[in-house]
Amino acid sequence: MLEAIVFILGLLIGSFLNVCIYRIPRGESIVFPASHCPACRKPVRPYDNIPLLGFLLLRGRCRLCRAPISWRYPLVELLHGLGYLFILHQFGYSVQALVYALLFSSLVVVTFIDLSHQIVPDVITLPGMVLGLIAASTVLPPGPINSLIGLFLGGGLFYLVAVLSIAVLKKEGMGGGDIKLIAMIGAFLGWKGMLLTIFLAALAGSIIGLFLVFIRGRNRAEPIPFGPFLALGAMVSLFWGAEILNWYLLLGRS
Ligand SMILES: [Zn+2]
Repeated sequence: MLEAIVFILGLLIGSFLNVCIYRIPRGESIVFPASHCPACRKPVRPYDNIPLLGFLLLRGRCRLCRAPISWRYPLVELLHGLGYLFILHQFGYSVQALVYALLFSSLVVVTFIDLSHQIVPDVITLPGMVLGLIAASTVLPPGPINSLIGLFLGGGLFYLVAVLSIAVLKKEGMGGGDIKLIAMIGAFLGWKGMLLTIFLAALAGSIIGLFLVFIRGRNRAEPIPFGPFLALGAMVSLFWGAEILNWYLLLGRS
């Protein structure tokens, strides 16, 4: 029963995050005006705005102008609802779970904005760094020192990559948004979780990158946004980081 409530809460917040994903990169207010169809600008009726069900009942089209509604809307809602369920399962009813839910929501917004606009918005990452530091100093396991190291080491490493790729490769290899994003992740997870995040993100990014180049024939020069991989790496690191590190250390000893 309580799981169902958390899942529905995740769906509802996911529906609000869709608004953020659409409006933040366009510089629009996230509270006003109420949801409207991007094609005909008409307001969405409350019963059509119900997460998942609205999309299914409308069969993916606007009620008024029949313009297709992006698959991103139900996908974000479902992903977000399932994410909340999983955080509850891993961390129970705790303050940690609440903070991690907030981190997860921020990373979902970052992921989908980066996928469609190739930017990681400061309005998420800058307050995220502050919140990460405060949370890690009070209720999260890393503690203040570890969190500070995570923030500055993560940001510093990516800054170095950015400077080096401009100096050596004469092209931008790392955006400013990614620098702030890894700093924020470092603040929440501490330096070990942050390094594991980079490792997992680079691994997943390489696999997907090769897949896109060889299978889909994507142009190699076309950049692939790195934010979604960092978000994925951070979540895997949060949920299974201890197991992965233990397994890695055992390998080193044998
Ligand atoms: Zn419409």
